[in-house]
Amino acid sequence: ASQEPDPVDTRAAKRHMGDVGVVVEHYNSRPEVGVVQRQDSPIIGLKNFNNWVKSVLITRYAHPALETSALSRGRARGKVLDMGCGKGGDITKWAKASVKELLAVDIAAVSVNQARNRWEGLRGPRFDATFAALDCYTEPLSKAFAPAKLAQPFDVVSMQFCMHYAFESLQKARCMLDNVSRYLRTGGVFIGTIPNSELLLEHLDAIPPDSRDISFGNSIYRITFESRDERPMFGQKYWFFLKDAVENVPEYIVRWDNFVQLAAEYGLHAIYKEEFHQVFSENQDHHEFKPLLVRMKVVDNDGASAMDEDQWEAANIYIAFAFEKR
Ligand code: SAM
Repeated sequence: ASQEPDPVDTRAAKRHMGDVGVVVEHYNSRPEVGVVQRQDSPIIGLKNFNNWVKSVLITRYAHPALETSALSRGRARGKVLDMGCGKGGDITKWAKASVKELLAVDIAAVSVNQARNRWEGLRGPRFDATFAALDCYTEPLSKAFAPAKLAQPFDVVSMQFCMHYAFESLQKARCMLDNVSRYLRTGGVFIGTIPNSELLLEHLDAIPPDSRDISFGNSIYRITFESRDERPMFGQKYWFFLKDAVENVPEYIVRWDNFVQLAAEYGLHAIYKEEFHQVFSENQDHHEFKPLLVRMKVVDNDGASAMDEDQWEAANIYIAFAFEKR
C-alpha cells in the first residue's frame, strides 16, 4: 500500500506557522490561469523568459551521463525529482526532455493538485509521475513517498525558484540538501534557479546610509530588506514583490560560497552558475534554443524582445546553477 498522503484532500493540508505559513498561503491562493489569460499578464515577457531559461537548464541536464557499469547493467534512465514543483509549470518541459519518471513535491497542497492535473492533461506519450505535499525543508522525502518509489535513485533533482526559502536557517538548508542528495545517484545532477545574492547585496550596499527605505527595484519588482546591518549567513530576510506574480513574500539571501560549501558536505559539487542575462547570451544563438525563444514568445519573429527594460532588469535577479553528485 502506498504511504503517500493524498494531495487531493487539501483539508488534510497542514497549517503552517510564521513565514512558512505566509509562503504556503501565498502560493496556494494564487489562481491557476489558463494559457490564454496568462498571455495578458503585464510581465508575460519575463515569465516566458524565465520559462525559457528553465527549458535550457532542463534540456541541458535532463540526462547526465551514466557510468559504464550502470549502462552495462541496462539501468533505465531519466528519473527526476522536482522539489518545490508548484503548479507543475515544468511538467511539459520534462515531457519534452523524454524523462521516464517524475516525483514532484511541494509544501502547497493546492498547487500540488494543480500540478497533477497538468500531468493528467498532458498530450502525447506520458511519463510516470507521483505527486505529494511535503515541507521539504523540515521533513524527509521518505515521509511523502513509499519506499518502492525511492528504491531506484534519481538522475536529476530540480529546484526552480524555490530553494531560497530553505535558507531561513542552517537546519532547513541541511534538511533540503539531505532531501536533494540522499536519493540522487553518483554522476546525477542537481539543477536550480535562485536569487542572485551578490546582486541583491550590492544593491543593499548602494542604498544611502541615511535612507530609511531599505528597498530597491523598478516598476515591476521590489526587494525590501529587513535590516541593513544584520547579515547572518542564514535567515537574512527580505520581502519580494513581483508584479502579477509575488506579493511581498518573505525570502532569504543564499550566499553562493556558503551554499557551495554546505552542498559539498552532501557530495554535491558546483559545475555551473550563471546570471540569467548570461544564460541568454550563451544560448540565444543555439540551434535548438534560438527557435525556442520565438516559440516561447520571448522574442517575436523579427527578433524583438517581449520584455521592456524593467522586465529585463528584473530577469537578472536570478541565477541558474547545476551541481554534480560525486
Ligand atoms: N518550481 C515551480 C516553478 O518554477 O514554477 C514553483 C516556483 S514558486 C516561485 C516557489 C515554490 O516553492 C512554491 O510552490 C512554494 O510552495 C514552494 N515551497 C516553498 N517552501 C517550500 C518547502 N518548505 N517545501 C516545499 N516547497 C516549498
